[in-house]
Amino acid sequence: MGFTRRAFLQFSMAASAIAALPLMRVLAAATTKEHPMPFTLPPLPYAPTALEPHMSAKTFEFHHGKHHNAYVVKLNELIAGTEFEGAKLEDIILKTAGDASKAGIFNNAAQIWNHTFFWNSMKPSGGGKPTGELAKKIDADLGGYDKFVDAFKTAATTQFGSGWAWLVLGKDGKLVVTKTPNAETPLTSGATSLLTVDVWEHAYYIDYQNRRPDFVATFLDKLVNWEFAASNFANASVKKAA
Ligand code: FE
Repeated sequence: MGFTRRAFLQFSMAASAIAALPLMRVLAAATTKEHPMPFTLPPLPYAPTALEPHMSAKTFEFHHGKHHNAYVVKLNELIAGTEFEGAKLEDIILKTAGDASKAGIFNNAAQIWNHTFFWNSMKPSGGGKPTGELAKKIDADLGGYDKFVDAFKTAATTQFGSGWAWLVLGKDGKLVVTKTPNAETPLTSGATSLLTVDVWEHAYYIDYQNRRPDFVATFLDKLVNWEFAASNFANASVKKAA
């Protein structure tokens, strides 16, 4: 997945700078069973002011610095001393999905994944229409960009309470617009996520108060990172062809 490698590289650089450890020692620590590396908050892919005025630095201070970070801290607490300590985030999500006795681990792990995916679903000077193969696929599977916009807005605004709206590539190879409640993620259904918007109130209340439809419209018009979506789509196509 597109962001994973970048986030990992950013993390590696940040970790080695902060700890003043050579990268190899950091990597060795991450793979040593006796000293599993705790999860860390992935850095934003842009400055916290980069999406202003559409998403404020204040929102990032809370949403990334407090909410996203809290999921990381909590997950590390919950998995300490369990079979999940040292496991990959995606594996933790897949192994705990649907298991009520592991709901806490699932919720925090999935929220870490969803939020990192969300930050990468946006970029400065984003928004507007996709191009290339993904645009053609949206035309073919969803009836065109305008119909995608309608479907995405409907999914985002009709998700009752907290959750997420998504553009995903289903297991059947068709694009679909979908929504998930709370921490649920398309990862567990075998779909490939291309794009998401967080519609928990904490995502928009500072900048938009209760106006979720305005937030979603701005996300589509000014913030969407179609290059990220296109790279997820291209990677999924390559994986399928392999
Ligand atoms: Fe959130």
